[in-house]
Amino acid sequence: MTLYLQNARYIDPDSLAITSTHLAVTDGPDGGVQPIDTIPTAGERGKDDRVLDCRDRFVTRAFGCGHHHIYSSLCRGMPAPPRTPTNFPEILEYVWWRVDARLDLDMVEASAMAAALQMARRGVTFCIDHHASPLHVLGSLETIAEAFERVGIGHLLCHESSDRNGPRAAEQSLAEHKAYLDSGRPGLIGLHASFTVGDELLSKSIDLASRYDTGLHIHVAEDVADQDHCEKTYGKRVAQRLRDMGALASPKTILGHCVHCDGEERQIIRDAGVWVVSNVESNQNNNVGLTDYDWLDNIMLGTDGMHNDMLRSAKAHHLCCSTTGGIGYDEVYRRFRNVHNYLRQFPGIGDGANNLVILDYDTPTELRPDNFYGHFLFGFEALHVQTVIAQGQVIIEDRRSTQVDEEEVLAYAREQGLRLWEALSS
Ligand SMILES: [Zn+2]
Repeated sequence: MTLYLQNARYIDPDSLAITSTHLAVTDGPDGGVQPIDTIPTAGERGKDDRVLDCRDRFVTRAFGCGHHHIYSSLCRGMPAPPRTPTNFPEILEYVWWRVDARLDLDMVEASAMAAALQMARRGVTFCIDHHASPLHVLGSLETIAEAFERVGIGHLLCHESSDRNGPRAAEQSLAEHKAYLDSGRPGLIGLHASFTVGDELLSKSIDLASRYDTGLHIHVAEDVADQDHCEKTYGKRVAQRLRDMGALASPKTILGHCVHCDGEERQIIRDAGVWVVSNVESNQNNNVGLTDYDWLDNIMLGTDGMHNDMLRSAKAHHLCCSTTGGIGYDEVYRRFRNVHNYLRQFPGIGDGANNLVILDYDTPTELRPDNFYGHFLFGFEALHVQTVIAQGQVIIEDRRSTQVDEEEVLAYAREQGLRLWEALSS
């Protein structure tokens, strides 16, 4: 199937060249996008081909999220924790570990559908998610994958293995990864963080990643407490521990945050060629500190479960990194787009050039290649996303899903949200 975008103003995501042209978008994980001079006539087009008028619209590559927790979707407006947390370990204990322990597969499905829908409407067509439902582990990844696919979102999933819920939950998490990867799905091996993962679980996870030729996905030095625990327990810092155990062997490995890494750890991370995801809004929300990441090339952006809007993440990243060390607009954009470079390691995963957003961008100033970054950071908003194409298929048209009944998705999420809140109150 070919989708023809007529009269588009195409912004090349790499060169930033802006071309008034028609585009031919082919579907599937290996499809692409091609500028063309003329749209084939109705007689020349295939029966499933479609022409979309893009007059006065900008078209560019859709967005990707490097680190999410879709399991937080039902938490908006939930009951307050039993005590107000005063530091990061207490935020985990009083908020997130109470939530994830109460999630069952219906809640996970509702969370994934709601997050996927909200991502799609914001032009995010690919999500790298880090999932936790420690008491309902088995089948959770397939549940999320199917929910994402119903909405039309690409995915690279993992489950958060940890020793914090005892040996049975840890074993189930390993088994879930194995079953998911055995089914042919692409995925990572998820771990919570050094301070809740003992050597045995870490070692088993590394073996599993190696066996499936994939990477780990783990939070690293998000708060200084992770470093304190590692130094006290293992006599070394977190990145040193991970390197010494063999956890940094794959360039597919993703380290979340790395806010509190010292100079030697930064060198270790650079040398390993692994990837780091910045989530500054979450860091601010948890009051764990900020860093500027000017020491690293392999840096991408995520939401850490705060929301589903990658344009918002880019803006926040710019504001925070400006205060911690100064950052160029071009570097923010590079980090925003780096998720595609990371995902290139997974051929056919569905993050190709045929993932596009059509922007209804009513700018009061001229948009040109030489001032693109200013528009990217101070102009482009989710509200400009009019139509979204994922792997060559229109999944959002005129701001509405073409794939699912939005009211139904949200009603189901609210219903499951009430179940979760009730469980939190009891
Ligand atoms: Zn996270």
